[in-house]
Amino acid sequence: MSKIVLIGANHAGTAAANTILDNYPGNELVIFDRNSNISYLGCGTALWIGRQISGYEGLFYCSKEKLEAKKAVVHMETEVNRIDFAAKKVYAKDSGGKEIVEDYEKLIIASGSLPIAPKIPGLDLPNVEFVKLFQNGQKINAILDKPEIKNVAVVGAGYIGVELAEAVRRRGKNVLLFEAENTSLASYYDDWFTGDMDKVLADNGIELHFGELVKEFQGNGKVEKVLTNKGEYPIDLVIMGIGFRPNSTLGNGELETFANGAYKVNLKQETSKAGVYAIGDCATVYSNAVENSAYIALATNAVRSGVVAGHNAGGTPLESAGVQGSNGICIYNYKMVSTGLNLRAAEKAGYTPVYTQFEDTQKPAFITENNDKVKIRIVYDKNTRRILGAQMASYQDISMGIHMFSLAIEEKLTIDKLKLLDIFFLPHFNQPYNYITMAALTAK
Ligand SMILES: Cc1cc2nc3c(=O)[nH]c(=O)nc-3n(C[C@H](O)[C@H](O)[C@H](O)COP(=O)(O)OP(=O)(O)OC[C@H]3O[C@@H](n4cnc5c(N)ncnc54)[C@H](O)[C@@H]3O)c2cc1C
Repeated sequence: MSKIVLIGANHAGTAAANTILDNYPGNELVIFDRNSNISYLGCGTALWIGRQISGYEGLFYCSKEKLEAKKAVVHMETEVNRIDFAAKKVYAKDSGGKEIVEDYEKLIIASGSLPIAPKIPGLDLPNVEFVKLFQNGQKINAILDKPEIKNVAVVGAGYIGVELAEAVRRRGKNVLLFEAENTSLASYYDDWFTGDMDKVLADNGIELHFGELVKEFQGNGKVEKVLTNKGEYPIDLVIMGIGFRPNSTLGNGELETFANGAYKVNLKQETSKAGVYAIGDCATVYSNAVENSAYIALATNAVRSGVVAGHNAGGTPLESAGVQGSNGICIYNYKMVSTGLNLRAAEKAGYTPVYTQFEDTQKPAFITENNDKVKIRIVYDKNTRRILGAQMASYQDISMGIHMFSLAIEEKLTIDKLKLLDIFFLPHFNQPYNYITMAALTAK
């Protein structure tokens, strides 16, 4: 039986805590989180702000009370500011300024990530907002309630920027979406897909400023203007969404880190110090697609890493299977899902990527309702024919197919393995020649 200290109780921390409390009840678990709430589903922020759900109340699935009921000691609004790895002690301060010192036998760091704040003049002006915490969502929601807020700049057209652009547009505001790349979602999808998403955004009245670099915010008392390398725009609110960086200062140079500062972990989520685990957005993942450590900040990865660390800290050795970075997005009902590497990422990882693709209606032509086009691209390595990634899109929900590709990448299957795979047919779901089969069969 061990004394385990856990720093951070959002998605990764909650998963680790529940794994320990449910499976290893004899351990002592002490949890610190500097926030006043835990388990906030950031993915719901855009739905809540865009009024697609009735409120934020359902966006939490755990609480201090739930963890305490399982006998954890939980310190909320208490920030850990130092770890003495040699003495195995954690130093924290609560919101009243009281210092709390806890010793540990095993330590799990789940301190997550922070929004990237570029060095842009005017970033600290009022009404320049970031999207991460529940409190950020509350603030943006309240600002959008003001009728004088008419023009909103969203900076970054990754999945968070695109979701927020839709949400703010649904609130009746003029939305200008700024992105340095020439398309939205460039990290996850090839042009064949991002072109569709860009059209969906534009068709719904979002002003796209792609290939445009935001240089400065100006204003008197609050933000009033965005300056880019191409122009100047009057603006009442800026929402920053250019990505996240690991929150990993507690390691204090004593834990080995990845290129972006994330704690480097092995498949057991253990850092370079024995008995010290790092999970979720503050840590690396093992990418089966690149066959190396990577940084992929997703709640799904956070939860899985929490389960793995929970078992290892609890006493049962368990290794992660690695991840593929599977992700999905749904904007104005247009759905895109992907896993593994797109062409650009595959090239960057040193492969010689080629692809096969197919597009048709999802179901036979005699199905006249709920039958839309589906498009699929499978990226594979020219030399080994190993599947490296897949992308799919439709107005229909075709999302479940992507999980098969996730497993294919994990299992290192070749494109040829999919050609005659037993894929069922029923007109309600697909065509006799399924789009996955067709894409695989036509692979050169
Ligand atoms: C708007 C938005 C939408 C998203 N949508 C999706 C989605 O659809 N799907 C998906 O998979 N992912 C999504 N994500 C990403 C997902 O939210 C993150 O990957 C996930 O929150 C990571 O969980 P985590 O527990 O590792 O870190 P975090 O959520 O960053 O939590 C870290 C916790 O540690 C605490 N903490 C930090 N430092 C200290 C300290 N020194 N002392 C005490 N406590 C500390 C913090 O208060 C926090 O509670 C989204 C993120 C955002 C912002």
